[in-house]
Amino acid sequence: MKIIMLGAPGAGKGTQAEKVAQALHVPTISTGFIIRQAIAAQTELGKTAKDFIDKGQLVPDDVVIQILFERIAQDDCKNGFVLDGFPRTIPQAQALVDAGVHIDKVLSIEVSDEKILERLSGRRECANCGKTYHMVYNKPQTEGKCDSCGGKLICRADDNPETIKSRLAVYHKQTEPLIQFYKGMGILVYAHSQEKVEDTTKEAFKALGVAL
Ligand code: ADP
Ligand code: ZN
Repeated sequence: MKIIMLGAPGAGKGTQAEKVAQALHVPTISTGFIIRQAIAAQTELGKTAKDFIDKGQLVPDDVVIQILFERIAQDDCKNGFVLDGFPRTIPQAQALVDAGVHIDKVLSIEVSDEKILERLSGRRECANCGKTYHMVYNKPQTEGKCDSCGGKLICRADDNPETIKSRLAVYHKQTEPLIQFYKGMGILVYAHSQEKVEDTTKEAFKALGVAL
């Protein structure tokens, strides 16, 4: 199964991507996390990406497309994957089509703009493995520590009100058109982002036809 998660920042794409990936025994691929790791490691890619991320803008298509194709060529992706944060533009989606990557389903997670600010301000991410948490809606077992790997939970630098505003604008302008793109391909399904993570997961699994 090859699945794409679509949705605004804070819709819960990453959280649901992990649940779906676990159920299907395939990896989750988060381009955002790959880029943040590159920034932390100060690689060439990280240096290129940092200015864009800090402003809440998208990293250029050619850069992200290269990252994604390198990642899905790895061995653990042979039986499929769940993409979280890619594609984010029509050219990125077209690159998948051109490369003959067959996507089974695209899940659009719907959430209102008002909810997003609240969501993003409580969000935490494991600095080590990228698993996402929320201080109210999706707490770790031990405060400040990742349930999976014990890594430190951090607040992302781009989860501040100013940057969130630009990210939302970018989402509506550049990413939202993908909903029509995938509707046209006949593979789009929906779930509503709800208060409880488990409720959204139930809807997501049902929409994707994945057994809980
Ligand atoms: P969120 O979904 O909350 O915005 P992500 O971790 O998916 O978080 O992305 C964080 C940032 O990383 C984006 O604002 C963007 O700058 C960059 N990024 C991630 N994925 C892509 C992509 N596919 N294309 C361009 N930029 C990306
Ligand atoms: Zn972790």
